[in-house]
Amino acid sequence: MNIISKLPTVGTTIFTVMSKMAVDNNAINLSQGFPNFPIDPLLVELLKQKASENIHQYNPMSGNPMLLSEIGLLIERSYQRKVQVENELLVTAGATQAIFTTIQALVHPNEEVVILDPSYDCYESPIVLSGGIPKRIPLNDSFLPNWELINQTVNEKTKLIITNNPHNPSGRIWSESDMRELEYLLHRFPNLLVLSDEVYEYITFEQKHLSVHSNEFLRSRSIVVSSFGKTFHITGWKIGYLVAPEFILKEIKKIHQFLVFCVNSVSQSVLADYLPLVKTEDLGGFYQEKRNFFREKLQSSRFELLDCEGTYFQLASYQKISDESDIDFTKRLATEFGVAAIPLSVFNSDNADRKLIRFCFAKDDETLTNAAERLCKI
Ligand code: PMP
Ligand code: GLN
Repeated sequence: MNIISKLPTVGTTIFTVMSKMAVDNNAINLSQGFPNFPIDPLLVELLKQKASENIHQYNPMSGNPMLLSEIGLLIERSYQRKVQVENELLVTAGATQAIFTTIQALVHPNEEVVILDPSYDCYESPIVLSGGIPKRIPLNDSFLPNWELINQTVNEKTKLIITNNPHNPSGRIWSESDMRELEYLLHRFPNLLVLSDEVYEYITFEQKHLSVHSNEFLRSRSIVVSSFGKTFHITGWKIGYLVAPEFILKEIKKIHQFLVFCVNSVSQSVLADYLPLVKTEDLGGFYQEKRNFFREKLQSSRFELLDCEGTYFQLASYQKISDESDIDFTKRLATEFGVAAIPLSVFNSDNADRKLIRFCFAKDDETLTNAAERLCKI
């Protein structure tokens, strides 16, 4: 039987490919972004306690009411935004489902969606599945928005612009003038909406990122996506949330109810108890130490490290080491030198290769030390 693929050009994600290569070659895995250290013991304790309670059945479709209310308080503490939790908030199975569901709900055939490259890999396919047209345009050389190009690209058919701040893979964060440019763009195009992927919102270093949540005009036209996976080192729990104005969330919920109906009840219940006890403000400092530790260890290497303002990713140029393509270089890095990383070209629609690779530094000190030792020998 012949099945006609709906995503003919899509293969296995680079994160799966590189993590497998790490296992096959017994390499240290700094490729796929996930922490390798234990989670907060308090979270483990709550999980144990809660497991014996009556929390194992379906939750309300939008989320456990206690968790919704705690998320509302977290957003208010972080961004001084008062979210109407019954109408503007949805708990999702990670940011991936939030993004997929939003795009399915909003994008009609032949409508355009702007993506800024290098971009995370879960944006394009849901657009294609909706019959929409992804318009992938490059960020500038510093991985910040190229507003001239964005303004030339957006038109009456553009439904959404997807933004990611702090940015995976570059670790850059937007300036005030970038936020202002986004406002101008929305003023120029009254039907344009923003899908703001802020999953690394609490992982920022010298300065905080500017959230769409904090801007009254922007938030009235945006869907903001968060991930507990990033914030509490629990990527495998696959839980996050999105916030959107009621008229948009109404449509998103229509899709959500048939995609998952509701999210895992145990993790929602545990997080509802955990949120009032934890300080998200400490996360930036925690990862800043890891970033500094890793960068110091690489000082004597031939890699050139780019600025990293947020996220747990460090970009490095290997131009002084080799002129191979970034894909060939990362393959050799894993097979010959025992360190797995991510080539940057896969985040670009035209596979532009700037001889840059991405390391994930959400690892314990021993892993980072061992990886850096190997990298310094190259
Ligand atoms: N957006 C970005 C920028 C990411 O790096 C990730 C990665 N994990 C996601 C979305 C998806 O997050 P989740 O694991 O919560 O689905
Ligand atoms: N967000 C993770 C990264 O950028 C990958 C998650 C996944 O494998 N889907 O490495």
